Amino acid sequence: MCCVVLLSLLLLVDRWHGHFVDIQSSRRNSSENLSRHGKLSISLSDDMKKMASTDKDDIEDAEETVDTEVEDNTAEEETKEPEPVEREYSHPVYKQIASLNGKINNYSKAELIKNLKMLKLDTDGSRSVLAKRLKTFYKKTMLSVSGIQEKNENSKIRILFDFYVIIDYEATCELLKHSNFKQEIIEFPAVLLNCQKGEVEDEFRSYCRPVLNPLLTEFCTELTGITQDDVDKAPLFHEVLTSFEEWLQKKKLGSKYSFAIVTDGPWDIGYFLKNQCALSKIEFPTYCKYWINVRKTFANFYNTGKMPLSTMIQLIGREFQGRAHSGLDDARNIAFIVQRLLKDGARVIFNEKLAEGNARRREDGNPYFSVPVHNTEFKAIQGKFKPNFPQKKSSVI
Ligand code: AMP
Ligand code: MG
Repeated sequence: MCCVVLLSLLLLVDRWHGHFVDIQSSRRNSSENLSRHGKLSISLSDDMKKMASTDKDDIEDAEETVDTEVEDNTAEEETKEPEPVEREYSHPVYKQIASLNGKINNYSKAELIKNLKMLKLDTDGSRSVLAKRLKTFYKKTMLSVSGIQEKNENSKIRILFDFYVIIDYEATCELLKHSNFKQEIIEFPAVLLNCQKGEVEDEFRSYCRPVLNPLLTEFCTELTGITQDDVDKAPLFHEVLTSFEEWLQKKKLGSKYSFAIVTDGPWDIGYFLKNQCALSKIEFPTYCKYWINVRKTFANFYNTGKMPLSTMIQLIGREFQGRAHSGLDDARNIAFIVQRLLKDGARVIFNEKLAEGNARRREDGNPYFSVPVHNTEFKAIQGKFKPNFPQKKSSVI
């Protein structure tokens, strides 16, 4: 059955560009290939062989991205998608995958959609998103058929955590920010995404009462939709953090279920939360020390370069839902991105952690504290990272 699927895939792609896949010879050679590799292989015509490359980068879909984020001038090594199994690059299937990737790279958007439709795959999203989806499908199917990838590793959604907790803080702000203006968190929203079901299961939201600048600027209310009344009635940040942790515990996160914090960019945790904990004189929560910066995951997976939330939403073929800069609406839209990434087979794993020492600088000069997490580190901590929700006691604010 798998072989039939694979052969029709190859024919499908080949028919488009008039190349010929030597299926007969592949069938003839299959027993030989099976004995040599213990796996099925399909031969390529000479034409395809010329196009094929054994370059690892080709095979890996060139997941390197250009950092287009204006706020961040620090060169950083991106977290690459880890490979599920040790690769046997000598296996001919990698040449075939590289060859198909090369062809897909040359497809127009209409061609991509036509192929995806034939394969009954989603057709929403930008050209780069569609190309990645098609490549991922072929790659997974071919690796599976060739026996290189284990079945469970080829399942469409990669479950690395039971839940994602998507956070997007809003903070006090001014139109023209003074250098000594200390921003305080005024909205604490979280969206709970069940990875197994791929669905949003619950939401948390509380406004927080700022102390240093209790009066919101007109600009801030206009930007975020948060009114003076909202914050006047709200609890202090440390109380909200306690409620948030109670909500996590009620959902059995950190006990029965594993979870990871997800944000758009490094700032929510490395800047807003870090500074707010210092202001409120509370310990930084251990379970926020590692997080997923979805902007980076998106850029690496779809090969797009980093971009704002609104652009990512457009690229996956959706409209932004709700109001931009409303924390809960932003978090809901980030959840759409995570859902799309999961559906497309991305590994949505920790890629940022709190920096203990050296801060990096935003474009506005403000320091933020985050450093990239690499695959080896993720593998080392995966499953071992257990939060212990301590009761926060704040003496000041
Ligand atoms: P965001 O998650 O993009 O809605 O931004 C988080 C916080 O960053 C906002 O609540 C503001 O405090 C600040 N912020 C975002 N955009 C701007 C802006 N254009 N001007 C000033 N502050 C902003
Ligand atoms: Mg926001």
